[in-house]
Amino acid sequence: MKEMNVLVINCGSSSLKFQLINSSSEEVIAKGLCERIGIEGSQMTYTPAGGEKQETVTPMADHTQAIRLVLDALTNKEYGVVKSLDEIGAVGHRIVHGGENFASSTLITDEVVKAIEECNDLAPLHNPANLIGIRACKELMPDTPMAAVFDTAFHQTMPEEAYLYGLPYHYYEDYKVRRYGFHGTSHSYVSHRAADMLGKDYQDLKIIVCHLGNGASVSAVKNGKCVDTSMGLTPLEGLIMGTRSGDMDPAIIEFLCGKEKKTVNEILNILNKESGVLGLSGGFSSDFRDLEKAYQAGEVSAIRTMKAFAYRVVKYIGAYTAAMNGVDVICFTAGIGENNSFIRTLITSYLGYLGITIDEEANAKRGEEIEISAPDCKTKVLVIPTNEELAIARETVALL
Ligand code: ADP
Repeated sequence: MKEMNVLVINCGSSSLKFQLINSSSEEVIAKGLCERIGIEGSQMTYTPAGGEKQETVTPMADHTQAIRLVLDALTNKEYGVVKSLDEIGAVGHRIVHGGENFASSTLITDEVVKAIEECNDLAPLHNPANLIGIRACKELMPDTPMAAVFDTAFHQTMPEEAYLYGLPYHYYEDYKVRRYGFHGTSHSYVSHRAADMLGKDYQDLKIIVCHLGNGASVSAVKNGKCVDTSMGLTPLEGLIMGTRSGDMDPAIIEFLCGKEKKTVNEILNILNKESGVLGLSGGFSSDFRDLEKAYQAGEVSAIRTMKAFAYRVVKYIGAYTAAMNGVDVICFTAGIGENNSFIRTLITSYLGYLGITIDEEANAKRGEEIEISAPDCKTKVLVIPTNEELAIARETVALL
């Protein structure tokens, strides 16, 4: 395969994260973040490999302007990493929702843009922003091939019984109301790495991936296919997250609307932004570093919060073990899963029924690929740092 540099773009409504990755060394040549796009005080941070991180506060009226700044930085004479835009061979875009239209990544054409637009309804906060990123890149680099890599695609292999809700069936037929799942790029990357680490064939394994970051989800991967995942139509379902509630009785919404004299939208906003561990800890923090410190200091709000967070993960592991009739390997990834050994201890303390015991010395390590189950355990427990940008770059190159 031809060696090239791939620009990976993750466009949010007011932010844009980017990495330039070399396809053959898989090294990050430069990376950065534009924040507060279209808002006063926009700023870009840019870090070339081996160089100083730079912060530029400059107005960015829209995403096109932000991408222009990114391209200027990458080609800058002083601190740039490529001589011209010709040295960027492709762009890989992270797209949040592909609905049922996309079961895999795809090269971006006008039809693909249209099909992504059709999914806007399903992810009104994310997809329009992703599309703005595509259009801005197209304007500035019209001849550079671009790929769309979807958060939902990996989960499209789920069987009907896993993706259907217990609702009138015509809601699925009419509006495509079903489980989609998110973080698919991460679940795919981590489950493949797990097979590599164990030296086993991906197709032969039953894998549970716990992606525990600010947003968090669990997936069950059986014989090389995702068979279930905890997020649903939207990322609100499943685990207790940084600020999202996760699973709850849907009747709570109407109950709270009445008690608090709020609209459904206002309550949903609370379920997305003020709930989860932030809400459970009484507004103390959504950051597990703070929560762990407070837990160790005996703070009751942090204790109840971390226990509830861990317990929800434990329930999903149990459910997915049953769904797959067993589990060979459980993986922890993302900010909390990779770095917080204490939460891994809380979760794995429930897993004696799987014969799991933890190697405390291995578990004390942080942010590296490591097996943390004791050597004689039949079910393995692995920590695997996720790398969604690298996975997007690989998918992009594979499509060309
Ligand atoms: P997202 O990508 O969904 O925004 P991340 O995967 O970055 O979220 O995860 C954020 C969470 O990871 C925070 O709760 C944070 O406390 C936790 N985290 C990040 N780094 C560390 C660390 N070094 N030690 C403990 N927890 C960490």
